[in-house]
Amino acid sequence: MRPARALIDLQALRYNYRVAKQLSADKTLAVVKADAYGHGAVACAKALVDLADGFAVACLEEALELRQAGITQPIVLLEGFFNADELALIAANDLWCVVHAQWQLAIIEQAHLARPLTVWLKMDSGMHRVGFFAHEYRAAWQRLHSSNNVASIVLMSHFARADEPDCLRTEEQYHLFQTATAGIAAPISLCNSPALVAWPQLRSDWSRPGIILYGSQPVVTSEQQFLPVMSLVSKIIAVRVLPPGEPVGYGAQFVTQRPTRVGIVALGYADGYPRHAPTGTPVAVGGCVTQLIGRVSMDMLAVDLTDLPAASVGSDVELWGRMVSVDEVAARAQTISYQLFCNVKRVVREYSSY
Ligand SMILES: *Cc1c(COP(=O)(O)O)cnc(C)c1O
Repeated sequence: MRPARALIDLQALRYNYRVAKQLSADKTLAVVKADAYGHGAVACAKALVDLADGFAVACLEEALELRQAGITQPIVLLEGFFNADELALIAANDLWCVVHAQWQLAIIEQAHLARPLTVWLKMDSGMHRVGFFAHEYRAAWQRLHSSNNVASIVLMSHFARADEPDCLRTEEQYHLFQTATAGIAAPISLCNSPALVAWPQLRSDWSRPGIILYGSQPVVTSEQQFLPVMSLVSKIIAVRVLPPGEPVGYGAQFVTQRPTRVGIVALGYADGYPRHAPTGTPVAVGGCVTQLIGRVSMDMLAVDLTDLPAASVGSDVELWGRMVSVDEVAARAQTISYQLFCNVKRVVREYSSY
């Protein structure tokens, strides 16, 4: 069997949740949207079931997968509902629902529901993606507050630049939110991972960490506090020695400068490894860090084994995980760990017990 694997360390996931919970003022939703950022939503939610105050997913389909797996905690739908038909299922499955647009208010008011909803009312405090503008927010809150279909309301917003510790924008968003919600007595939810790590003064009743649970740190701070959860691994399947001046891989993007021992790894961009990772991107082979050489292919990539004489066919390779930071690979490939995680496919997932 092809040796490409995503090893998922559920113990590390639990550790990271505990750290995130300590950073949070109060309740902490584990964000497990997009199949838990490629880590497997059901397995991750089950591993957190005795710890998590609740979970957050993008949509109803993702929430129903968790309910069907026996998850009974609160689940927030971060993108809310897409049409009126979904409301009955949302109520029946006791899901909490973001409301972010005017068109959703009338649908809620006119719905006939088995039980009233818990609504997370989203303000656009400056991200300018979804949510009610600050000047519309109180009126939206009032309409929901007076609807028989709404049991309770959480006030929420989302930061666009919380991963920039020196940027004034996050505090501007916060002050706009504070001003527009003054006097409304309701729980508040503001912080995603970068906000929790870099803006501890903005903590509120419900935090919403995602990426830090999976061990990637979105803001560079003095210490790495989170443990890697996913190790993307495979094995060396071929080794060849080339003289100087020989090209390796498509397009001859890498040419040997010295006699070079080239190792071929059974993992490529079809598994989710970024095709744009350049020569020099770190890769660990047999526990030692070496580098990617040449273009990443669909099913394979090449590494330099010249200085790793012990490495040979069958050696273990880690593309990211404990030895190679996913954030480093992402930076080399000019993307973010979120995208690398979400792109992982075809490889077999293996879960460690906890
Ligand atoms: C995805 C998401 C989060 C989690 O973001 P991270 O940066 O992964 O912590 C939080 N809140 C909302 C609204 C989101 O969509």
